[in-house]
Amino acid sequence: MHNKHKILIIEDEINICNFVRAILETNDYQVLVARNGESGKTVFFSHHPDLVILDLGLPDIDGCDFIRLVREQSDIPILVLSARTNEADKVKALDLGANDYVTKPFGTNELLARVRVSLRISRHNGVGERQFKKKAHIRNMEIDYEARRVTIDKNEIKLTQTEYNIIELLSVHAGRVLTYSEIIKKIWGYSDSGSIKKLQVNMANIRKKLGEQPGEYLYILNELGVGYRMNEDNENEE
Ligand code: CA
Repeated sequence: MHNKHKILIIEDEINICNFVRAILETNDYQVLVARNGESGKTVFFSHHPDLVILDLGLPDIDGCDFIRLVREQSDIPILVLSARTNEADKVKALDLGANDYVTKPFGTNELLARVRVSLRISRHNGVGERQFKKKAHIRNMEIDYEARRVTIDKNEIKLTQTEYNIIELLSVHAGRVLTYSEIIKKIWGYSDSGSIKKLQVNMANIRKKLGEQPGEYLYILNELGVGYRMNEDNENEE
């Protein structure tokens, strides 16, 4: 199968650049490379890639300025490469319109999963995706959108309205991180000083009801300092 999506890598570190390029080319993506922000802009506007993989720490421009510039004219998915400890940078990049991030150092499978999810977001245009699906399956969990019911191995999980809404939201974006503020805005419609605490309490209850032990991650990953990510839907895994 030839997917031949065109992916632009903007990254100044040659080792990482070559690593990402090799993984993508092996998996039949077409790859374009820019080693700084200015040439990244030029290649972006002349070649119209399907996805941009962007290092935030570029020698000439701030990666966040690149995201801002692209978002003024385009919804092309942007996957950010970020250093391990920079949670604030990740949140800033996501709030500016980046679709997801990968933390350095990362492995082949993680990168490919993020690329796949990001390309799917652009195909389905994100929010409307649920309308095409009646159910989602994440491992042995089923989410029935019409019945608003969650089951694990066919056993119904008793959830409050809010808990169900959070699970539905994360599952519609399965595979992708949602920041705390994105979740809070979509679930409660507003955000105040107690919002994060309220979200954390709900998440703790959800994890308990889904049978997740502390430190364990079956369905929902807590991306510390950034947000939450639900595992990819089984149908979309390769
Ligand atoms: Ca860099």
